[in-house]
Amino acid sequence: MALILDGNKIASEIRSEVAAEVRSMTAAGMQPGLAVVLIGHNPASEIYVRGKVKACEETGIHSEKFTPPDSISTETLLDLVAELNRRDEIDGILVQLPLPPQVDAKKILLAVDPAKDVDGFHPVNVGFLSTQRPGLVPCTPGGIMEILKRSHIPVAGQEAVVVGRSDIVGKPVAMLLLNANATVTVCHSKTRDLAGVCRRAEILVAAIGRAGMITRDFVKPGATVIDVGMNKVTEPAEFHRLFAGNARREESFRSKGSILVGDVHPEVAEIAGAITPVPGGVGPLTIAMLMSNTVKAATMRRQRVPEFARS
Ligand code: NAP
Repeated sequence: MALILDGNKIASEIRSEVAAEVRSMTAAGMQPGLAVVLIGHNPASEIYVRGKVKACEETGIHSEKFTPPDSISTETLLDLVAELNRRDEIDGILVQLPLPPQVDAKKILLAVDPAKDVDGFHPVNVGFLSTQRPGLVPCTPGGIMEILKRSHIPVAGQEAVVVGRSDIVGKPVAMLLLNANATVTVCHSKTRDLAGVCRRAEILVAAIGRAGMITRDFVKPGATVIDVGMNKVTEPAEFHRLFAGNARREESFRSKGSILVGDVHPEVAEIAGAITPVPGGVGPLTIAMLMSNTVKAATMRRQRVPEFARS
């Protein structure tokens, strides 16, 4: 069976390191601050934001939550972002997605000062990543690299295959792996012979959004498999395809009526060398890296690293 890469343990290490750094920054009168903007009442977004605010409390980061109504206009939201850009004690600005349909999401994300863009989605930070300059890296991809590093999984010279090319996961993780000297292939819905391409991977990253799509036929024995997927399965037939015979999961599915599943089929754990579980793999790293990015943003902006100087 594969080595299980424990995301909870790695995330908790990062959070302790962040908390120590925040303590010394706070003692020097530079407590990092994060502003979180949550629009309307999307239940999933409310849960994510609660987790982010709680993580700030635990690590000692100052946090402020802004909750404009669903009816907010692009202009009013731009005014809020501009005010947060101006405030010196705010180091990170996170606008929780998705935004209501009347708001121009691209305009909002472009308006965030790149030096405070702790999500790492601003094109300026995307450019810094692809040209290997100091910048803010998206949290989930950054977390994947921490899992590999802290689990002593070699990356340089390895064949890495990333399935998924989204701006928030697939593309940035491919760029990080390339920057770490892996030989990287990025796959998507038009890739021919996906299983064959994936079987070349010594490191396989699945960021697709399809429950259990990566079966054993996609995996080279001994490969490291990083499962980014978070899919809610409610159909009994789908559940049985993935977990038939797993008494613990069956009990959980019966009681809750749903189960959280990754993009990787559980059978892959029988042939992979190492694998991230779902839940408890990549997921916990995302918030830990948000905390880490807030501290990084505070440090770089206040030390006037050239890439972080306000234009
Ligand atoms: P996304 O924007 O929907 O992108 C999915 C990617 O998968 C696309 O590039 C798509 O290809 C590709 N794809 C879809 N079906 C495919 C198929 N049959 N064969 C090959 N490629 C296929 O998703 P995302 O935002 O990157 O998220 C991916 C998954 O990660 C989701 O389950 C999401 O919930 C999860 N996630 C988890 C975390 C975390 O903290 N753990 C964070 C973010 C996302 P095309 O480009 O050709 O359409």
